[in-house]
Amino acid sequence: DIHAVCDVVVVGAGLSGLAAATRVAARGRSVTVLEARDRVGGRTLNEPVGEGKVVELGGQWVGPTQERVLALLTELGLRTYPTFDDGDKLFEFRGRLHRYRGSVPRLNPLVIADIAQAQLRLDRMAREVPLDRPWAAPRAERWDGETFSSWMRRNVRTEGGRAFCTIVCEGVWAVAPSDVSLLHFLFYVRSGGGLGRLISTEDGAQKWRVEGGTQRIAHHLAARLGDAVRLGAPVRRIRQERDGVTVSTDGTEVRASQVIVAVPPALSVRIAYDPPLPGLRDQLCQRYAQGSVIKTMAVYPEPFWRADGLSGQVTSATGPVKVCFDNSPPGSAPGVLLGFLEGNQARALGRLPVERRREQVLGCFTRFFGPEAADPERYLERAWAEEEWTRGCYGGYLPPGGWTGHGRALREPVGRIHWAGTETATEWNGYLDGALTAGERAADEVLAT
Ligand code: FAD
Repeated sequence: DIHAVCDVVVVGAGLSGLAAATRVAARGRSVTVLEARDRVGGRTLNEPVGEGKVVELGGQWVGPTQERVLALLTELGLRTYPTFDDGDKLFEFRGRLHRYRGSVPRLNPLVIADIAQAQLRLDRMAREVPLDRPWAAPRAERWDGETFSSWMRRNVRTEGGRAFCTIVCEGVWAVAPSDVSLLHFLFYVRSGGGLGRLISTEDGAQKWRVEGGTQRIAHHLAARLGDAVRLGAPVRRIRQERDGVTVSTDGTEVRASQVIVAVPPALSVRIAYDPPLPGLRDQLCQRYAQGSVIKTMAVYPEPFWRADGLSGQVTSATGPVKVCFDNSPPGSAPGVLLGFLEGNQARALGRLPVERRREQVLGCFTRFFGPEAADPERYLERAWAEEEWTRGCYGGYLPPGGWTGHGRALREPVGRIHWAGTETATEWNGYLDGALTAGERAADEVLAT
């Protein structure tokens, strides 16, 4: 029994699915968005922290060159504000805290030169990777035949340089250097416009935040789509017939002429397909793993570290919190410290009970900012690997052999099925911006049929 009929079904009400549905609807086609959770926004999630203030447990920053998300924010009347960046930063290395200003810690000049050279090389190599066909890069086979870790061991000479590269890999890709293909690493660098853009707060992906939190983007888009968005509707099965497609959730079926699947590749193959997906597509999804991040925050009556001249930004080779930010909402209260557990730190600490994890995180904050950090009003965290409808973040990544062996299946439609989600983006893959452009690209594919 068919419960609804429309032109296009979109699976997933993250930013990508909502952007796809918005474009389809704008062209006068009828659309139904089926969302497994009881909320929209997917990997964006607001958490209230006092009167009218929020922090985000999912994606939060936007930055220069992320033209699509910046334009949408303007269109929706959502304002941005700069990430707190005043005062000294901290770098923890070999058990010592180094205070510094600007973008580079005052380390041994050999280490600084080592890092600068690695960045230069990686950026140069990344420019050879075609974003829509990484497998066609002149040295694709070679780069896809090794991990970022093996490249780093050969090319980064100092211990400090390797520690820094490891933090960057964990912080941006949310994986250990030995997890990720060098080709994927380089693809992602190019996709974000260079390594500097990916890691920078001053002029990169961490530059701005969104007033009221990024989940408002999803709330606004969903409000415009109205009844077309159905929550609590996990898609279980997609059946293609000669004249259409039937998308089944628990208890309802929607019939359409095309479907856009806007979930990460790893989740897209938890849906049953009839007929089954082509082998290459399924095998791509067997490899396109989600990264590992637990985003943690501690809420204090005020940002007390600012009085000590600290910006709240920390990079630590010691961990387990290796990257830290002042994540306070605008205004003087509350103060919020943000700590990321990434890659192997997320995997190891993810197995502990929350109380033990809280202890370890607050232990890091106390080391960085003093005893006041030990006793927050609230401790918040989200372990995205535990979430049934996400299973890891920030985005997906490919291990060696993934792009060259299976990459061709990433965006290739399968009959009436089209693929969206930030993992299919060419520009700013893995980011909010990439989620939007990927959704709109899939909508254009559908509209062209
Ligand atoms: P998702 O948001 O994952 O949307 C997929 C949707 O599909 C979800 O709502 C899910 O519930 C639903 N779904 C899954 N399976 C099914 C099914 N079978 N049936 C129906 N529905 C289904 N990006 C940035 O740009 N800046 C940042 O600062 C940043 N930081 C991040 C920090 C964290 C902790 C996380 C988690 C992510 C971060 N990201 C950041 C990444 C960014 O959030 C994502 O790239 C983006 O939100 C992905 O959107 P999407 O629509 O592609 O996927």
